[in-house]
Amino acid sequence: MSARPHLVTDLDSAPWWEALRRREFLVQACVPCRRLRWPARGFCNDCGSDDWTWVRASGLGTVASWTVTHRPAAEGGPFAVVLVRLADQDDILVPGYVDGPQDGTGLAIGLPVEVGFMDVAAGDDERDVVVLRWQPVHRSG
Ligand SMILES: [Zn+2]
Repeated sequence: MSARPHLVTDLDSAPWWEALRRREFLVQACVPCRRLRWPARGFCNDCGSDDWTWVRASGLGTVASWTVTHRPAAEGGPFAVVLVRLADQDDILVPGYVDGPQDGTGLAIGLPVEVGFMDVAAGDDERDVVVLRWQPVHRSG
């Protein structure tokens, strides 16, 4: 039996989950002041406006922090979750799974990553949902 928590979608976040299903990475943008925000909410913390839209983010960022959850091997072993600071706006931190060793080996603050996606059975009633799985960017040279 899976102990994975169920995700709950609401009116504000529904477009986020729908975009993930299309492999699109969106963030909210305030219409009057153009500030980006994530997670979704109904008004702008900067200017207070409730006029907003969704925009496609670059999908680029850097690792700001991470955690490693340790589980017995029979339950899949450890897994890493990173908090990514978006290149689009440096006060937005977005969590997600990460490619690579799941014990945290190779992770570093400032590590460049790009967005990726992964299907998991974690939604309401265990339906499949798409979640973020960040990909470390390996610079050549
Ligand atoms: Zn605003």
